[in-house]
This record gives sequence, structure tokens and C-alpha cells, in this order.
Amino acid sequence: MKIPAIAFVVPCYNEEAILQETITQLLKKRMDLIRKKLIAPESRIVLVDDGSSDCTWEKIKQAVEKERKDETVCGIRLSANRGHQNALLAGLMYAKDHADAAVSLDADLQDDIDVLDDFMREYLHGNEIVYGVRNDRSADRFFKRFSAVCYYRMLRWMGVRTIFNHADYRLMSRRALEILSEYREVNLYLRGIVPLIGLRQSIVFYKRKPAVRPTRYPLSKMLLLAWDGITSFSVRPIRIISGLGVLFLFLSFLLLIRILYVKFFGYTVDGWTSMLLAVTVFGGVQLLSLGVIGEYAAKIYMEVKQRPRFNVESILDPSDKKDSLSRESDSKECRK
Ligand code: UDP
Ligand code: MG
Repeated sequence: MKIPAIAFVVPCYNEEAILQETITQLLKKRMDLIRKKLIAPESRIVLVDDGSSDCTWEKIKQAVEKERKDETVCGIRLSANRGHQNALLAGLMYAKDHADAAVSLDADLQDDIDVLDDFMREYLHGNEIVYGVRNDRSADRFFKRFSAVCYYRMLRWMGVRTIFNHADYRLMSRRALEILSEYREVNLYLRGIVPLIGLRQSIVFYKRKPAVRPTRYPLSKMLLLAWDGITSFSVRPIRIISGLGVLFLFLSFLLLIRILYVKFFGYTVDGWTSMLLAVTVFGGVQLLSLGVIGEYAAKIYMEVKQRPRFNVESILDPSDKKDSLSRESDSKECRK
């Protein structure tokens, strides 16, 4: 098999403090892999600035300039913050046209880059998707560990196929990326889509390092992602509601017998209780049902709009004639 050119795709949101160190380490790892003949010298680092409000883009520009001769670093800047999944997709779709395969990793390098050797060996053995899977979660706080286990269990119960303890540290061949580009959904949950791609897939285990900076994934963003993971892939919540409907129908039938009994035997005061009961219980169920159905309707609404999932503001690619650095006005300050 031909030695592949790899794009290391790194989404960056407000990463000015650690980006330089990340680039240095990745470049070192790149050289190491080239020396071992696991990746081709055309392999590059693709940094995607997800609409950062600090000097991340300036740092990316500096890195591209510094490496311009060797063409080892390129930068993509999204015009606004669209979230990790969309930024990652932007980088992957760029990689699809410029590399043989892409590896996605976080900017804080919490995911051990030394296992990239194993990623490459799996790829060279014919695997088109290689998942990085954490073999322990000791770096996480108890709450994150506990909620992750509950969440993965729930996903499985909902019938969503995901890889346990795998985040977005993975390798995808160009073919896998091409298939990924056919998934046109706006509510992006890559961990749910990638297993659906098929092709030959394998797993590499690694130990995740502790975080070096505060997370860019606050609880609110994490809950939104978790919710996308369920509602973008599973219709089970609707089925649960249907089940509840059947159950309450049955209960109301029992209630009806009691109401009729009370009516015919004259204890009418009792009827007031059952009526209240019916009003509250059914009112609650109906509201809940409406809420969840509304959630799906909202998804349909978003999908039919077919909005672009990301908008590229500029691309820095020294090997590309259309490199937009020359077109970008130098006076643009970093948005601070
Ligand atoms: N990130 C992003 N856009 C966002 C939030 C995060 O591109 O809106 C990137 C961030 O720069 C990092 C990756 O997503 O490269 C994962 O973020 P982080 O390491 O904070 O997540 P955690 O490790 O806490 O789950
Ligand atoms: Mg992290």
C-alpha cells in the first residue's frame, strides 16, 4: 500500500495559550512518523479556527508563515463559532480533497499522540476508520465519568450505535470522508454518524491525559451534544410516549369503571377526585408528549432549511494557488 498523506485536523476555539506548543508537538510527531515510513512527507496539520474571540487565528497565521516553505501547516478560519462538531467537519471536508486520510484531534492534545503509530499501522492493514478509545477514565472527575457511563448505556438502549469511550480522536480514509460528506444533517453528532459509514473499522486503545486548561465544552454545550446524540439517531423517545399512551389508556379504563361505580352507587363527592386526577395526569402526559414531538418537529425544520453547516472565511494553504492569505487584509486585528 502506498504511504498515505495524512491531514491532522485540529479544531481550535480560543486556544491561543496552548496552540504553539500543540503545533510544535504535532510537527515533531509528524517527522517521527515520516521517518518510520508510516506517513508521507506531504502530510500536514490542518488548524480550524472555530470563530475564536482571542488571538488563535493570529497564531495559526504565524504557524502557516513559519512553515510556508515546507507546506506543513494550513489554516481554515470559520466566520463564526459553530461548535466543535461543525469545526471538525470543516477540517475533515478540507482534508477529503487534500489528503489520503485524516486524523482528528483536540487542540489541547489530551489524546496521546504517541498512539498515532498504531493508528497508521491499522490503516496500512486496510482499516478505513480507526477509533481512538480511552482505556481508562481516571483523568476525569467522578461526575464526568459517571454521566458518561450512564449516557453510553442510554444510547445503546435507544438503539444508537456508538463506540464506548470514544470521543472524536479517530482516523478516516478519504473514502470514509467522502461517504461522510453525503450525510447532510445539520444537527451533527459525528460519533453517531461515523459507525454508520461502514467500511473496515478498528480500534486503538490509549490513555487520555488530564486537561491542561479549562474545558471549552461547558455543561450546556455537552448537554446539547448529548441531546443531539439521542434525537438525531433514535426514535425511541417517541415510542416511549406511544407506550405511555397505551398504559394511560388502560389506567383510564380502570378509572372509568370506578367512576361508573361511584356514579351508580351515589358517592358523587368521590368523582371530584378522579376528575382532578384525570385532568392532572393526562394534562402532564400530553404536555410531555407535545414537548418531545415538538423536539423532532424542530429537527425536521432545521433539516429542511439545509443551512450550510459551516462557512469558511479564509483558507491558508501554501501549496494552493488560491491561498487566501494574500487576499486577506493584513490590517485585520485579532478579535479580542
Ligand atoms: N472546540 C471548538 N469549538 C467550540 C468548543 C471547542 O472547536 O465551540 C474545540 C477545542 O478548541 C478543542 C476541542 O474542541 O480542540 C475539544 O475541546 P476541549 O478540549 O475543551 O473538550 P474537553 O476535553 O473538555 O471535552
Ligand atoms: Mg480537552
